[in-house]
Amino acid sequence: MDFTEVAVSKEMEEFRKEVRDWLEANVPEEMKIPIDPEERGEERHHFWRQKGKELGAKGWLNPVFPKQYGGGGLTPEHERIIREEFRRHRSPFRGTEFVYSALLVWATEEQKQKFLVPMLKGEIVAWQKSTEPHSGSDLASYQSTAVRDGDEWVLNGSNVFISGQGRPDLLWGPMETDKQAPRHRNLGFFMIPYPRPGLEISNQNLVNGSEQHFIFLTDVRVPADHLIGGDHQGWQVANTGLEQEHGGQGSIFQRENEVEGLIRYMQQKRRAQQSPGGDLVSQQTAIDVYIENHISNLFNIRTRWMYHSRQEMSWEGPSAFVFDRVSGFRQVARIRDVMGMDSLLGTKESRAYDGGRQEVFQRASFVLQHGAGSFNISKVVLARRIGISRTKERAAPTPMTAGASHNA
Ligand SMILES: Cc1cc2nc3c(=O)[nH]c(=O)nc-3n(C[C@H](O)[C@H](O)[C@H](O)COP(=O)(O)OP(=O)(O)OC[C@H]3O[C@@H](n4cnc5c(N)ncnc54)[C@H](O)[C@@H]3O)c2cc1C
Repeated sequence: MDFTEVAVSKEMEEFRKEVRDWLEANVPEEMKIPIDPEERGEERHHFWRQKGKELGAKGWLNPVFPKQYGGGGLTPEHERIIREEFRRHRSPFRGTEFVYSALLVWATEEQKQKFLVPMLKGEIVAWQKSTEPHSGSDLASYQSTAVRDGDEWVLNGSNVFISGQGRPDLLWGPMETDKQAPRHRNLGFFMIPYPRPGLEISNQNLVNGSEQHFIFLTDVRVPADHLIGGDHQGWQVANTGLEQEHGGQGSIFQRENEVEGLIRYMQQKRRAQQSPGGDLVSQQTAIDVYIENHISNLFNIRTRWMYHSRQEMSWEGPSAFVFDRVSGFRQVARIRDVMGMDSLLGTKESRAYDGGRQEVFQRASFVLQHGAGSFNISKVVLARRIGISRTKERAAPTPMTAGASHNA
């Protein structure tokens, strides 16, 4: 079977037109994604939160999740079309949050109704609260604690680098429930409503301009039913989400805008007979960028296809993830080699090429090596999956392999 084959039926063409018409009618020019995320602004943020609810009601916000839990009940092809059209229209498509899968696999029916349904419908926004100042990538060394007190849990600890815009309605992530238990058996997985007495969030702005945050929990109380899974199963619950975050779900676009921008740059320079348009070394470097981006895309499309056809995965997701991250670093350096100073002029510079997109990419690429756990951690996971590590590891259950289907 050819996993890259894209069957375009009449129904899908009509659906594409419906999405395109909706975007034309609903998204004014000034609400489209700015090149630099730092220039997003409050107004745009509120606009897209409201649109998120409208998209949720239409089933387009989380197209492949089950209707009974607030998703669209649509196919991966519908999702691909929505993403393609949103990208074409420069509109943000909120990616799948990994907590959705963790809830689908591990939450009780009541918890799914309470947390998953409003999230999938876009009525509430949740942030992933995993990274601690001391444990960082090593999630199994988590030290923030949860202590049971009657019908409640009392939470204490802190986090760094937590991504999100504005403020969330919920935070989710592991907490240590048993100091005596061994690693991987000492955590619980919690849903923590915000605002809440004792819960503080403050901004942590990084060089990429995206919004990261510090979180502080001081005697924060949450009801007992805000624990997902058993009180020693937090590692397993977290890993259902991490399996997908670490490449196990695939994706559709990898750095398309930047690579297309580089190729257009070379074409323009060549037509204008300016350097580096005719330079053979620069041409070959641009070709390397172009080909490597295709390879990364193909890896990710394959994983996405495997995921949606419910295949048991092992090394495929992590290898796509490692390749993408390592290649991302090579790509920014190559783009710098070809474009020189033109890759470093930002959005506020009048002479910036492509509105300063490449400069934003140059900055983003450094911090993105660390999101989702540092990239050495991705290599450790891959080494375990292909059997060259001290320990072996199987993929965590996802909604597709655990039978908690997406588009049921
Ligand atoms: C833009 C951005 C967005 C983020 N968003 C979120 C978010 O929404 N939620 C969230 O919870 N976290 C988020 N993070 C945090 C991110 O997951 C952490 O930065 C990441 O886990 C690395 O942790 P650390 O920075 O503490 O580095 P460390 O884990 O301390 O790593 C430092 C260095 O040591 C290496 N290292 C660490 N452990 C090992 C090991 N076992 N084997 C080999 N090498 C190792 C690393 O590769 C790295 O080079 C975000 C980070 C960034 C930059």
